[in-house]
Amino acid sequence: MMKLFPVVLLSVLFLLPSAAPAVEKLPLVWIVSTGGTIAERINPATGAAVPAVSGADLIKAIPDLAKAARIKVFPLCNIDSSHMTPEIWRKLALKVNELLADPEVKGVVITHGTDTMAEGAFFLELTVTSKKPVVFVGAMRNASDLSPDGPANIMNAVIQVCSPESAGWGVTVSLNNYINSAWYVKKTESTNPQTFVSGPHGYLGYVLMGKVQRNNDQPRVLKFPIPDKLPRVIPLSTFAGDDGSLIRCAIAEGAKGLVIEGVGSGNVNPDVAGAIKEALSKKIPVIITTRVEWGGVVPAYGDVGGGEYLQKMGAVLGGQIDTFKAHLLLMLAVAQNDFSVEKLKTYFVYDID
Ligand code: ASP
Repeated sequence: MMKLFPVVLLSVLFLLPSAAPAVEKLPLVWIVSTGGTIAERINPATGAAVPAVSGADLIKAIPDLAKAARIKVFPLCNIDSSHMTPEIWRKLALKVNELLADPEVKGVVITHGTDTMAEGAFFLELTVTSKKPVVFVGAMRNASDLSPDGPANIMNAVIQVCSPESAGWGVTVSLNNYINSAWYVKKTESTNPQTFVSGPHGYLGYVLMGKVQRNNDQPRVLKFPIPDKLPRVIPLSTFAGDDGSLIRCAIAEGAKGLVIEGVGSGNVNPDVAGAIKEALSKKIPVIITTRVEWGGVVPAYGDVGGGEYLQKMGAVLGGQIDTFKAHLLLMLAVAQNDFSVEKLKTYFVYDID
Protein backbone atom coordinates (compact mmCIF):
# COMPACT_ATOMS: atom_id res chain seq x y z
CA MET A 1 0.00 0.00 0.00
CA MET A 2 2.81 2.36 1.02
CA LYS A 3 4.38 1.89 -2.46
CA LEU A 4 1.29 3.45 -4.02
CA PHE A 5 1.47 6.60 -1.80
CA PRO A 6 3.91 8.68 -3.97
CA VAL A 7 1.85 7.96 -7.14
CA VAL A 8 -1.39 8.99 -5.42
CA LEU A 9 0.25 12.16 -3.97
CA LEU A 10 1.65 13.21 -7.39
CA SER A 11 -1.72 12.64 -9.04
CA VAL A 12 -3.48 14.80 -6.43
CA LEU A 13 -0.86 17.57 -6.70
CA PHE A 14 -1.14 17.49 -10.49
CA LEU A 15 -4.90 18.03 -10.28
CA LEU A 16 -4.66 21.00 -7.85
CA PRO A 17 -5.14 24.40 -9.53
CA SER A 18 -1.76 26.12 -10.05
CA ALA A 19 -0.75 28.28 -7.09
CA ALA A 20 -0.22 31.40 -9.26
CA PRO A 21 -3.57 33.14 -9.98
CA ALA A 22 -4.48 32.93 -13.68
CA VAL A 23 -3.18 36.28 -15.01
CA GLU A 24 -5.53 37.54 -17.69
CA LYS A 25 -3.46 38.14 -20.84
CA LEU A 26 -2.69 41.87 -20.83
CA PRO A 27 -3.28 43.81 -24.09
CA LEU A 28 -0.28 44.22 -26.37
CA VAL A 29 0.72 47.86 -26.94
CA TRP A 30 3.56 49.06 -29.19
CA ILE A 31 5.51 52.18 -28.24
CA VAL A 32 7.22 53.80 -31.23
CA SER A 33 9.86 56.27 -30.03
CA THR A 34 10.97 59.21 -32.18
CA GLY A 35 12.74 61.53 -29.68
CA GLY A 36 11.76 64.90 -28.25
CA THR A 37 12.06 66.42 -24.80
CA ILE A 38 10.56 63.25 -23.31
CA ALA A 39 13.79 61.51 -24.35
CA GLU A 40 16.24 64.34 -23.69
CA ARG A 41 18.60 65.13 -20.84
CA ILE A 42 20.58 68.25 -19.94
CA ASN A 43 24.03 68.36 -21.50
CA PRO A 44 26.21 69.39 -18.49
CA ALA A 45 28.61 71.24 -20.81
CA THR A 46 25.90 73.56 -22.12
CA GLY A 47 23.02 73.27 -19.64
CA ALA A 48 20.65 72.67 -22.60
CA ALA A 49 18.56 69.57 -23.36
CA VAL A 50 19.74 67.16 -26.05
CA PRO A 51 18.49 63.71 -27.23
CA ALA A 52 19.84 61.17 -24.72
CA VAL A 53 17.26 58.54 -23.72
CA SER A 54 16.35 55.47 -25.79
CA GLY A 55 12.79 54.21 -26.19
CA ALA A 56 13.66 51.15 -24.10
CA ASP A 57 15.05 53.33 -21.27
CA LEU A 58 11.89 55.44 -21.33
CA ILE A 59 9.85 52.32 -20.58
CA LYS A 60 12.27 51.04 -17.93
CA ALA A 61 11.62 54.26 -15.98
CA ILE A 62 7.91 53.32 -15.62
CA PRO A 63 7.68 49.93 -13.86
CA ASP A 64 3.87 50.20 -13.46
CA LEU A 65 3.45 50.00 -17.24
CA ALA A 66 3.80 46.21 -17.00
CA LYS A 67 0.59 46.11 -14.90
CA ALA A 68 -1.38 47.85 -17.68
CA ALA A 69 -0.13 46.15 -20.85
CA ARG A 70 2.47 44.00 -22.55
CA ILE A 71 4.78 46.63 -24.07
CA LYS A 72 6.96 46.33 -27.18
CA VAL A 73 9.21 49.20 -28.28
CA PHE A 74 10.15 50.23 -31.82
CA PRO A 75 12.81 53.00 -31.92
CA LEU A 76 12.11 54.86 -35.21
CA CYS A 77 14.53 57.75 -34.51
CA ASN A 78 15.74 59.96 -31.66
CA ILE A 79 15.48 63.59 -32.76
CA ASP A 80 14.14 66.87 -31.49
CA SER A 81 10.85 67.33 -33.32
CA SER A 82 12.03 70.69 -34.67
CA HIS A 83 14.01 68.39 -37.02
CA MET A 84 10.97 66.34 -38.07
CA THR A 85 10.05 66.14 -41.79
CA PRO A 86 6.94 64.97 -43.70
CA GLU A 87 9.12 62.12 -45.02
CA ILE A 88 9.82 60.86 -41.49
CA TRP A 89 6.08 61.07 -40.72
CA ARG A 90 5.41 59.12 -43.94
CA LYS A 91 7.74 56.35 -42.73
CA LEU A 92 6.15 56.51 -39.25
CA ALA A 93 2.67 56.10 -40.80
CA LEU A 94 3.83 53.05 -42.79
CA LYS A 95 5.28 51.47 -39.62
CA VAL A 96 2.15 52.19 -37.55
CA ASN A 97 -0.10 50.67 -40.24
CA GLU A 98 2.15 47.58 -40.22
CA LEU A 99 2.05 47.23 -36.40
CA LEU A 100 -1.72 47.75 -36.17
CA ALA A 101 -2.36 45.10 -38.82
CA ASP A 102 -1.44 42.48 -36.16
CA PRO A 103 -4.80 41.43 -34.67
CA GLU A 104 -3.15 40.95 -31.28
CA VAL A 105 -2.03 44.59 -31.09
CA LYS A 106 -4.39 46.85 -29.10
CA GLY A 107 -2.89 50.15 -30.26
CA VAL A 108 0.23 52.28 -30.61
CA VAL A 109 1.74 55.03 -28.46
CA ILE A 110 4.15 57.37 -30.27
CA THR A 111 6.65 59.31 -28.16
CA HIS A 112 7.45 62.51 -30.07
CA GLY A 113 8.68 66.05 -29.50
CA THR A 114 5.96 68.60 -28.80
CA ASP A 115 7.21 71.34 -31.20
CA THR A 116 5.73 69.64 -34.30
CA MET A 117 3.60 66.98 -32.60
CA ALA A 118 0.28 68.56 -33.66
CA GLU A 119 1.06 68.34 -37.37
CA GLY A 120 2.80 64.96 -37.07
CA ALA A 121 -0.31 63.56 -35.39
CA PHE A 122 -2.47 65.12 -38.12
CA PHE A 123 -0.38 63.45 -40.85
CA LEU A 124 -1.06 60.08 -39.23
CA GLU A 125 -4.72 60.98 -38.69
CA LEU A 126 -4.94 61.30 -42.50
CA THR A 127 -2.95 58.15 -43.33
CA VAL A 128 -3.41 55.47 -40.62
CA THR A 129 -5.96 52.95 -41.90
CA SER A 130 -6.79 51.13 -38.65
CA LYS A 131 -9.47 52.33 -36.23
CA LYS A 132 -7.32 51.20 -33.27
CA PRO A 133 -6.01 53.91 -30.90
CA VAL A 134 -2.87 55.85 -31.91
CA VAL A 135 -1.73 58.19 -29.15
CA PHE A 136 1.00 60.82 -29.56
CA VAL A 137 2.66 61.66 -26.26
CA GLY A 138 5.57 63.82 -25.22
CA ALA A 139 6.84 65.97 -22.40
CA MET A 140 7.47 69.61 -21.63
CA ARG A 141 10.06 68.80 -18.94
CA ASN A 142 13.07 66.63 -19.87
CA ALA A 143 14.36 63.53 -18.09
CA SER A 144 16.91 65.58 -16.09
CA ASP A 145 14.18 67.80 -14.69
CA LEU A 146 13.15 67.80 -11.01
CA SER A 147 9.68 66.53 -12.05
CA PRO A 148 9.71 65.24 -15.65
CA ASP A 149 6.16 64.89 -17.01
CA GLY A 150 7.08 62.19 -19.56
CA PRO A 151 6.59 59.05 -17.42
CA ALA A 152 3.05 59.99 -16.31
CA ASN A 153 2.17 61.03 -19.87
CA ILE A 154 3.32 57.65 -21.22
CA MET A 155 1.43 55.78 -18.48
CA ASN A 156 -1.76 57.75 -19.30
CA ALA A 157 -1.27 57.12 -23.02
CA VAL A 158 -1.09 53.35 -22.46
CA ILE A 159 -4.18 53.52 -20.22
CA GLN A 160 -5.95 55.44 -23.02
CA VAL A 161 -4.98 52.82 -25.64
CA CYS A 162 -6.29 50.01 -23.39
CA SER A 163 -9.51 51.82 -22.40
CA PRO A 164 -12.79 50.97 -24.20
CA GLU A 165 -13.74 54.65 -23.63
CA SER A 166 -11.14 55.62 -26.26
CA ALA A 167 -12.81 53.74 -29.14
CA GLY A 168 -13.17 55.66 -32.39
CA TRP A 169 -11.07 58.68 -31.47
CA GLY A 170 -8.60 58.31 -34.33
CA VAL A 171 -5.15 59.77 -33.67
CA THR A 172 -4.85 61.84 -30.51
CA VAL A 173 -2.35 64.18 -28.83
CA SER A 174 -2.43 63.35 -25.11
CA LEU A 175 -0.40 65.26 -22.51
CA ASN A 176 -1.03 66.42 -18.95
CA ASN A 177 -4.06 64.08 -18.73
CA TYR A 178 -5.93 65.94 -21.52
CA ILE A 179 -6.81 64.07 -24.75
CA ASN A 180 -7.04 66.13 -27.97
CA SER A 181 -8.09 65.05 -31.46
CA ALA A 182 -5.28 65.50 -34.01
CA TRP A 183 -7.66 67.62 -36.10
CA TYR A 184 -7.67 70.88 -34.15
CA VAL A 185 -5.04 70.51 -31.42
CA LYS A 186 -2.39 73.24 -31.18
CA LYS A 187 0.69 73.78 -29.06
CA THR A 188 -0.16 77.06 -27.31
CA GLU A 189 2.48 77.38 -24.55
CA SER A 190 6.21 77.26 -25.26
CA THR A 191 7.22 75.92 -21.81
CA ASN A 192 4.08 75.11 -19.74
CA PRO A 193 3.02 71.41 -19.53
CA GLN A 194 -0.62 72.37 -20.20
CA THR A 195 0.26 73.39 -23.75
CA PHE A 196 -1.96 71.30 -26.05
CA VAL A 197 -5.51 72.61 -26.41
CA SER A 198 -8.25 72.41 -29.07
CA GLY A 199 -9.96 75.71 -28.26
CA PRO A 200 -13.68 75.82 -29.14
CA HIS A 201 -13.53 72.20 -30.37
CA GLY A 202 -12.93 70.97 -26.83
CA TYR A 203 -11.02 67.96 -25.54
CA LEU A 204 -11.99 64.42 -26.52
CA GLY A 205 -11.44 63.29 -22.94
CA TYR A 206 -9.30 63.24 -19.80
CA VAL A 207 -7.41 60.54 -17.90
CA LEU A 208 -8.61 60.76 -14.29
CA MET A 209 -7.06 58.48 -11.64
CA GLY A 210 -6.13 55.84 -14.21
CA LYS A 211 -9.44 55.86 -16.06
CA VAL A 212 -10.47 57.60 -19.31
CA GLN A 213 -13.34 60.13 -19.06
CA ARG A 214 -14.96 60.60 -22.52
CA ASN A 215 -16.26 64.09 -23.40
CA ASN A 216 -16.41 64.15 -27.22
CA ASP A 217 -16.28 62.06 -30.39
CA GLN A 218 -13.67 62.48 -33.11
CA PRO A 219 -14.67 65.54 -35.19
CA ARG A 220 -14.10 63.96 -38.59
CA VAL A 221 -12.62 61.07 -40.61
CA LEU A 222 -10.64 61.76 -43.82
CA LYS A 223 -8.09 59.30 -45.21
CA PHE A 224 -5.46 59.34 -47.96
CA PRO A 225 -3.26 56.51 -49.27
CA ILE A 226 0.40 56.89 -48.24
CA PRO A 227 2.27 58.03 -51.39
CA ASP A 228 5.76 56.81 -52.31
CA LYS A 229 6.87 60.44 -52.65
CA LEU A 230 5.55 63.65 -51.15
CA PRO A 231 5.24 66.68 -53.48
CA ARG A 232 6.68 70.07 -52.60
CA VAL A 233 3.91 72.13 -51.04
CA ILE A 234 4.95 75.42 -49.44
CA PRO A 235 3.12 77.21 -46.61
CA LEU A 236 3.73 80.98 -46.37
CA SER A 237 2.53 83.53 -43.86
CA THR A 238 1.73 87.07 -45.00
CA PHE A 239 2.54 90.38 -43.28
CA ALA A 240 1.89 94.11 -43.48
CA GLY A 241 3.64 95.43 -46.60
CA ASP A 242 3.97 91.95 -48.10
CA ASP A 243 4.49 92.52 -51.85
CA GLY A 244 3.89 88.85 -52.81
CA SER A 245 7.54 88.24 -53.74
CA LEU A 246 7.85 85.19 -51.44
CA ILE A 247 4.89 83.59 -53.26
CA ARG A 248 6.63 84.27 -56.58
CA CYS A 249 9.80 82.67 -55.17
CA ALA A 250 7.80 79.58 -54.14
CA ILE A 251 6.35 79.36 -57.67
CA ALA A 252 9.87 79.68 -59.12
CA GLU A 253 11.07 76.98 -56.69
CA GLY A 254 8.58 74.56 -58.24
CA ALA A 255 5.89 74.50 -55.54
CA LYS A 256 3.13 72.04 -56.50
CA GLY A 257 0.75 73.67 -54.01
CA LEU A 258 0.66 76.74 -51.75
CA VAL A 259 -0.90 77.43 -48.37
CA ILE A 260 -1.17 81.18 -47.79
CA GLU A 261 -1.77 82.26 -44.21
CA GLY A 262 -3.81 85.46 -44.23
CA VAL A 263 -5.06 87.70 -41.44
CA GLY A 264 -8.46 87.88 -39.78
CA SER A 265 -11.02 85.55 -41.37
CA GLY A 266 -8.67 84.84 -44.30
CA ASN A 267 -7.75 88.15 -45.95
CA VAL A 268 -4.58 89.36 -47.73
CA ASN A 269 -3.42 92.64 -49.30
CA PRO A 270 -3.86 93.37 -53.07
CA ASP A 271 -0.19 92.59 -53.92
CA VAL A 272 -0.46 89.16 -52.28
CA ALA A 273 -3.79 88.61 -54.03
CA GLY A 274 -2.02 89.34 -57.33
CA ALA A 275 0.70 86.77 -56.59
CA ILE A 276 -1.96 84.19 -55.65
CA LYS A 277 -3.64 84.87 -59.00
CA GLU A 278 -0.31 84.13 -60.76
CA ALA A 279 -0.04 80.79 -58.93
CA LEU A 280 -3.60 79.84 -59.84
CA SER A 281 -2.95 80.76 -63.49
CA LYS A 282 -0.15 78.16 -63.42
CA LYS A 283 -2.60 75.52 -62.08
CA ILE A 284 -0.96 75.58 -58.63
CA PRO A 285 -3.67 74.94 -56.02
CA VAL A 286 -3.83 77.57 -53.26
CA ILE A 287 -5.36 77.08 -49.78
CA ILE A 288 -6.11 80.16 -47.65
CA THR A 289 -5.63 79.83 -43.89
CA THR A 290 -5.40 82.40 -41.10
CA ARG A 291 -2.89 83.41 -38.44
CA VAL A 292 -5.82 83.79 -36.02
CA GLU A 293 -5.86 81.01 -33.38
CA TRP A 294 -9.53 79.92 -33.63
CA GLY A 295 -12.56 80.56 -35.87
CA GLY A 296 -11.03 79.58 -39.20
CA VAL A 297 -11.49 81.14 -42.65
CA VAL A 298 -14.81 82.34 -44.13
CA PRO A 299 -15.74 84.36 -47.26
CA ALA A 300 -16.72 87.42 -45.21
CA TYR A 301 -14.86 90.18 -47.09
CA GLY A 302 -15.27 91.00 -50.81
CA ASP A 303 -12.73 93.79 -51.38
CA VAL A 304 -9.45 92.95 -53.21
CA GLY A 305 -7.72 90.20 -51.22
CA GLY A 306 -10.73 89.45 -48.97
CA GLY A 307 -11.73 85.82 -48.40
CA GLU A 308 -14.75 86.03 -50.73
CA TYR A 309 -12.57 87.70 -53.42
CA LEU A 310 -9.90 84.96 -53.15
CA GLN A 311 -12.52 82.20 -53.27
CA LYS A 312 -14.04 83.69 -56.44
CA MET A 313 -10.52 83.83 -57.91
CA GLY A 314 -10.16 80.03 -57.44
CA ALA A 315 -8.33 79.76 -54.11
CA VAL A 316 -9.84 77.31 -51.60
CA LEU A 317 -10.63 78.57 -48.09
CA GLY A 318 -9.00 76.33 -45.48
CA GLY A 319 -11.96 76.08 -43.07
CA GLN A 320 -10.76 75.51 -39.50
CA ILE A 321 -7.53 73.72 -40.37
CA ASP A 322 -4.39 75.62 -39.40
CA THR A 323 -1.59 76.49 -41.80
CA PHE A 324 0.81 73.68 -40.94
CA LYS A 325 -1.87 71.00 -41.07
CA ALA A 326 -3.24 72.43 -44.34
CA HIS A 327 0.34 72.10 -45.63
CA LEU A 328 0.25 68.31 -45.04
CA LEU A 329 -3.34 67.78 -46.20
CA LEU A 330 -2.68 69.62 -49.50
CA MET A 331 0.54 67.58 -49.90
CA LEU A 332 -1.43 64.31 -49.68
CA ALA A 333 -4.14 65.60 -52.04
CA VAL A 334 -1.57 66.72 -54.63
CA ALA A 335 0.34 63.44 -54.24
CA GLN A 336 -2.66 61.54 -55.57
CA ASN A 337 -3.31 64.16 -58.23
CA ASP A 338 -6.60 64.93 -56.60
CA PHE A 339 -6.69 68.70 -56.17
CA SER A 340 -9.44 70.23 -58.27
CA VAL A 341 -11.12 73.15 -56.50
CA GLU A 342 -14.30 71.07 -56.10
CA LYS A 343 -12.34 68.19 -54.55
CA LEU A 344 -10.26 70.43 -52.27
CA LYS A 345 -13.46 72.06 -51.01
CA THR A 346 -14.57 68.64 -49.73
CA TYR A 347 -11.35 68.32 -47.75
CA PHE A 348 -11.33 71.85 -46.30
CA VAL A 349 -14.98 71.97 -45.23
CA TYR A 350 -15.72 74.56 -42.52
CA ASP A 351 -18.63 73.17 -40.56
CA ILE A 352 -17.56 69.95 -38.91
CA ASP A 353 -20.29 68.35 -36.80
N1 ASP B 1 11.99 70.87 -28.69
C1 ASP B 1 11.29 69.72 -28.14
C2 ASP B 1 10.78 68.86 -29.30
O1 ASP B 1 9.88 69.26 -29.97
C3 ASP B 1 10.16 70.19 -27.28
C4 ASP B 1 9.40 69.08 -26.57
O2 ASP B 1 9.47 67.89 -26.96
O3 ASP B 1 8.70 69.39 -25.60
O4 ASP B 1 11.33 67.81 -29.57
